[in-house]
This record gives sequence, C-alpha cells and structure tokens, in this order.
Amino acid sequence: MKRFGALEAGGTKMVCAVGDETGRILDRVSLPTLTPAETMPAMIDYFRDKGISALGIGCFGPVDLNRASPTYGYITSTPKLSWQNYPIVEKFREALGIPVGFDTDVNAAALGEATWGCTRDVQNSIYITVGTGVGVGVIIDGKPYHGMMHPEGGHVLLNRHPDDPMVGSGCPFHDNCMEGLAAGPSLEKRWGVKGAELSGRKEVWELEAYYIGQAIVDYMMVLSPERIILGGGVTHQECLLPMVRREVEKQLGGYLRCPALENLDTYIVPVSLNDNQGAMGAIKLAMEELGVYN
Ligand code: ADP
Ligand code: ZN
Repeated sequence: MKRFGALEAGGTKMVCAVGDETGRILDRVSLPTLTPAETMPAMIDYFRDKGISALGIGCFGPVDLNRASPTYGYITSTPKLSWQNYPIVEKFREALGIPVGFDTDVNAAALGEATWGCTRDVQNSIYITVGTGVGVGVIIDGKPYHGMMHPEGGHVLLNRHPDDPMVGSGCPFHDNCMEGLAAGPSLEKRWGVKGAELSGRKEVWELEAYYIGQAIVDYMMVLSPERIILGGGVTHQECLLPMVRREVEKQLGGYLRCPALENLDTYIVPVSLNDNQGAMGAIKLAMEELGVYN
C-alpha cells in the first residue's frame, strides 16, 4: 500500500504525519512553527526518508489556491510575518520531488471528515472550528470549495448581543465578526479568564451559543449544508453543543423545513476522527494530487 505525507501547518505548530490510503496515521511529530529558515529543513528531514508517494498540506491562511495564479501554493498575507508570501508548495515539491496537494487547514479537516468520518455519507458539509480563531471548511459536491479565494467563514458579521459586556472585538479588522466575538481569545477578553476556566457559567455559554448559532444559521442559508461539524478547543465545553442546537432552532424561526433538520442532534455534530481529521484530510489531498482515489 502506498504511503502519503500529511502536514497540518498551523501558526503555532506544524504537525507532520505519515499515513496510508485508508487514512490510517502511521507516524506523527509536532514541531513548533518558527521561521521558514528554521522549520522547513526540519519538516523536510522528517518526510525525506518516509517512503511517501505524495504530500498533502492543510495550511493556515490566507493562502493562494488558484492553480492558474503565479503565486499558487503560497501563504499570502498572514500576520505571521516570516511566512508572508512564502511558496510552501514549491519548496516541498523541490525538496522531496513528489506531488504536493494543498488546501486550507479547515478545508483539509472538512475533507478528512467527508472521506473517513461523520460526513462521509453526504456530499455537502461544513466544518467549523472555534479555537484560537474561527475557521470554516466547506465541501460542495464532495470537493473542498475555494471560489474566488477560499471561504473565510470566521469573519461573517453578526449582530452583537445587547448585553454583551465585551468592549471592542477580538478581531483587528471587524468590530462584530464571528471570530472577534466568539473565538477563544475573545472569551478571555470578555470574561477576563481563559475559556477552560469558565465552565458552569451559564451566561458565558448562552452568549457563546448565541453567536455560534447566528453564524450557523448564516452558513445554512447560503450554503445549504447537509450536515455541520462543530469542533475546536472552545467546543470542549460539553454544555455548548446542545445550547448551539437550541439557539439554531430558535434563530431559524421555523423557516427551513427539511428532513435533515428534524433532529438537530444528527445535523450539528462533533468531530469524529479524534483530532486526526486535519492530518487525514491532508492525506486525502496528497492522494488526489497523485491521482489515487479511494
Ligand atoms: P487552535 O485553534 O490554535 O488550533 P484549539 O482548537 O485547541 O487550537 O483552540 C484553542 C482555544 O480554545 C484557546 O483560545 C483556548 O482558550 C480555548 N479552549 C481550550 N479548551 C477550552 C475549554 N475547555 N473551554 C473553552 N475554551 C477552551
Ligand atoms: Zn474579523
């Protein structure tokens, strides 16, 4: 069986893994994200002797996914300055001499779930992560959706709750976007302590569910996903998912009628691949780049 490399490229860590065409992860290391000059050689060393046929990268963004563009495969305007305008795909292709598949981190995670996880039975799904930031991966007709660039669902604009005590926003670009109101750092900005220390505070999670619910209703109206996966560090709060489902039901206002929505417990679901969804999605990207279909 062929082996594939997977890279989950994040702003704080680079998770490098090797897997096979069933999505099984055989080996993995995590390296801190320093500058390209420091981190690229370490990653290339890891992948070099692993016998992989192709590499897939799920990358923090923004990235250029347009194959017709001269900067295809670049990390573009990231706030991580040393990685700005960095041709990550080309560098790996040159160093390893194998095909390199490329997409956003959240599209890769959405693809992992859609290939081997809880959305494998549907063709249209979204994967939302609420963590240090908010990201949304979109699968349409079985393929990660890019459009003009790639979706930036973390920055949809929301109505601020009139009782929200937060001054300002967690996003430097927008006063009222999903990420600025609901990501982990925004929780800390609003309540003064980290999200993990806010368990049992009803008002905290009601407000959080209000924002996540609003964003989900927006995604539903525009993309019409057949199922929605909600993950990320903030969703480790076990009370949150049921509250989000209730909020979605409330904010839909009875408008959409569809069999998939009869039970929101099976419509809005947690991740199913034990935090391997990103790496498994990257393996799938590698397989597709090589022309291997499972
Ligand atoms: P990243 O988004 O960087 O990949 P995570 O998805 O793990 O990482 O999200 C990290 C964020 O989640 C941090 O802001 C952290 O405070 C928050 N977080 C982690 N655990 C919890 C928890 N149990 N409850 C609420 N927030 C949490
Ligand atoms: Zn924003």
